[in-house]
Amino acid sequence: MLGKLARWLRILGFDVFFDCNVDDNQLLLLARKEGRALLTKDRELAAKGGYLVMGRTWEEEIEEVIRAFHLEEAIKPFTRCPVCNGELKEIDRETAKKLVPPLAFQRATRFSICKKCGRVYWDGTHMTRMKNVLDRIIKEAQK
Ligand SMILES: [Zn+2]
Repeated sequence: MLGKLARWLRILGFDVFFDCNVDDNQLLLLARKEGRALLTKDRELAAKGGYLVMGRTWEEEIEEVIRAFHLEEAIKPFTRCPVCNGELKEIDRETAKKLVPPLAFQRATRFSICKKCGRVYWDGTHMTRMKNVLDRIIKEAQK
Protein backbone atom coordinates (compact mmCIF):
# COMPACT_ATOMS: atom_id res chain seq x y z
CA MET A 1 0.00 0.00 0.00
CA LEU A 2 2.93 2.32 0.64
CA GLY A 3 4.85 1.53 -2.54
CA LYS A 4 4.67 5.04 -3.88
CA LEU A 5 5.76 6.51 -0.56
CA ALA A 6 8.72 4.09 -0.49
CA ARG A 7 9.77 5.11 -3.99
CA TRP A 8 9.59 8.81 -3.25
CA LEU A 9 11.45 8.48 0.03
CA ARG A 10 14.23 6.82 -1.96
CA ILE A 11 14.18 9.66 -4.48
CA LEU A 12 14.69 11.97 -1.51
CA GLY A 13 17.75 9.92 -0.63
CA PHE A 14 16.45 7.79 2.23
CA ASP A 15 17.39 4.19 2.79
CA VAL A 16 14.05 2.37 2.43
CA PHE A 17 13.39 -1.34 2.61
CA PHE A 18 10.19 -2.24 0.84
CA ASP A 19 8.86 -5.71 0.13
CA CYS A 20 5.18 -6.67 0.00
CA ASN A 21 6.05 -10.33 0.43
CA VAL A 22 7.50 -10.04 3.90
CA ASP A 23 5.01 -10.76 6.70
CA ASP A 24 4.34 -8.55 9.73
CA ASN A 25 6.48 -10.46 12.20
CA GLN A 26 9.43 -10.50 9.85
CA LEU A 27 9.00 -6.78 9.24
CA LEU A 28 9.01 -6.06 12.97
CA LEU A 29 12.11 -8.18 13.43
CA LEU A 30 13.92 -6.60 10.51
CA ALA A 31 13.04 -3.09 11.66
CA ARG A 32 14.41 -3.84 15.13
CA LYS A 33 17.55 -5.56 13.82
CA GLU A 34 18.42 -2.84 11.33
CA GLY A 35 17.23 0.08 13.43
CA ARG A 36 14.63 1.08 10.87
CA ALA A 37 11.34 2.85 11.44
CA LEU A 38 8.46 0.68 10.32
CA LEU A 39 5.89 2.64 8.32
CA THR A 40 2.50 1.06 7.89
CA LYS A 41 -1.15 1.74 7.12
CA ASP A 42 -2.10 -1.22 9.29
CA ARG A 43 -3.30 -0.22 12.78
CA GLU A 44 -2.55 -3.62 14.26
CA LEU A 45 1.00 -3.63 12.97
CA ALA A 46 1.49 -0.04 14.09
CA ALA A 47 0.37 -1.02 17.59
CA LYS A 48 3.05 -3.73 17.68
CA GLY A 49 5.81 -1.25 16.98
CA GLY A 50 5.30 0.69 13.80
CA TYR A 51 4.41 4.19 12.74
CA LEU A 52 0.86 4.54 11.44
CA VAL A 53 0.83 6.58 8.25
CA MET A 54 -2.36 8.64 8.09
CA GLY A 55 -1.90 10.61 4.87
CA ARG A 56 -4.62 10.08 2.27
CA THR A 57 -2.42 10.69 -0.75
CA TRP A 58 1.23 9.84 -1.31
CA GLU A 59 2.07 13.56 -1.21
CA GLU A 60 0.45 13.83 2.21
CA GLU A 61 2.24 10.67 3.28
CA ILE A 62 5.65 12.09 2.38
CA GLU A 63 4.95 15.40 4.13
CA GLU A 64 3.78 13.50 7.16
CA VAL A 65 6.82 11.22 7.32
CA ILE A 66 9.29 14.09 6.80
CA ARG A 67 7.63 15.97 9.65
CA ALA A 68 7.21 13.02 12.01
CA PHE A 69 10.82 11.89 11.71
CA HIS A 70 12.36 15.37 11.30
CA LEU A 71 13.94 14.48 8.00
CA GLU A 72 14.09 17.99 6.51
CA GLU A 73 17.84 18.34 6.99
CA ALA A 74 18.62 14.85 5.79
CA ILE A 75 17.04 15.14 2.36
CA LYS A 76 19.51 14.39 -0.43
CA PRO A 77 17.45 14.19 -3.63
CA PHE A 78 18.53 11.87 -6.41
CA THR A 79 21.26 10.07 -4.49
CA ARG A 80 19.48 6.72 -4.26
CA CYS A 81 17.93 4.36 -6.82
CA PRO A 82 14.11 4.51 -6.51
CA VAL A 83 13.84 0.96 -7.84
CA CYS A 84 16.30 -1.02 -5.69
CA ASN A 85 17.40 1.40 -2.93
CA GLY A 86 21.05 1.23 -4.06
CA GLU A 87 23.25 4.30 -3.80
CA LEU A 88 23.80 6.35 -6.95
CA LYS A 89 27.27 7.30 -8.10
CA GLU A 90 27.90 10.13 -10.55
CA ILE A 91 29.53 9.14 -13.81
CA ASP A 92 31.28 11.34 -16.36
CA ARG A 93 29.98 12.09 -19.86
CA GLU A 94 32.41 9.73 -21.49
CA THR A 95 31.15 6.76 -19.46
CA ALA A 96 27.53 7.85 -19.80
CA LYS A 97 27.74 8.02 -23.58
CA LYS A 98 27.80 4.25 -23.83
CA LEU A 99 24.88 3.80 -21.43
CA VAL A 100 22.33 6.49 -22.27
CA PRO A 101 20.07 6.88 -25.35
CA PRO A 102 21.60 9.43 -27.80
CA LEU A 103 18.93 12.13 -27.43
CA ALA A 104 18.97 11.95 -23.65
CA PHE A 105 22.77 12.05 -23.75
CA GLN A 106 22.73 15.27 -25.79
CA ARG A 107 20.30 17.02 -23.49
CA ALA A 108 21.42 15.84 -20.07
CA THR A 109 24.24 17.44 -18.12
CA ARG A 110 24.54 15.04 -15.21
CA PHE A 111 24.53 11.27 -15.13
CA SER A 112 24.61 8.72 -12.37
CA ILE A 113 24.54 4.96 -12.06
CA CYS A 114 23.09 2.73 -9.34
CA LYS A 115 25.89 0.87 -7.55
CA LYS A 116 23.56 -2.05 -6.92
CA CYS A 117 21.42 -2.67 -10.01
CA GLY A 118 23.32 -0.66 -12.63
CA ARG A 119 20.37 1.48 -13.75
CA VAL A 120 21.52 4.78 -15.21
CA TYR A 121 19.83 8.09 -14.38
CA TRP A 122 20.21 11.52 -15.93
CA ASP A 123 18.64 14.92 -15.61
CA GLY A 124 15.94 15.68 -18.12
CA THR A 125 12.29 16.56 -18.32
CA HIS A 126 11.31 13.65 -16.09
CA MET A 127 13.80 14.77 -13.46
CA THR A 128 12.62 18.39 -13.67
CA ARG A 129 9.06 17.27 -13.10
CA MET A 130 10.11 15.20 -10.09
CA LYS A 131 12.10 18.14 -8.71
CA ASN A 132 9.03 20.36 -8.92
CA VAL A 133 6.93 17.82 -7.06
CA LEU A 134 9.62 17.43 -4.42
CA ASP A 135 10.05 21.18 -3.95
CA ARG A 136 6.34 21.53 -3.36
CA ILE A 137 6.24 18.67 -0.87
CA ILE A 138 9.30 19.85 1.02
CA LYS A 139 7.87 23.34 1.26
CA GLU A 140 4.57 21.93 2.58
CA ALA A 141 6.41 19.80 5.13
CA GLN A 142 8.32 22.78 6.46
CA LYS A 143 5.21 24.85 7.16
ZN1 LIG B 1 19.23 0.31 -8.41
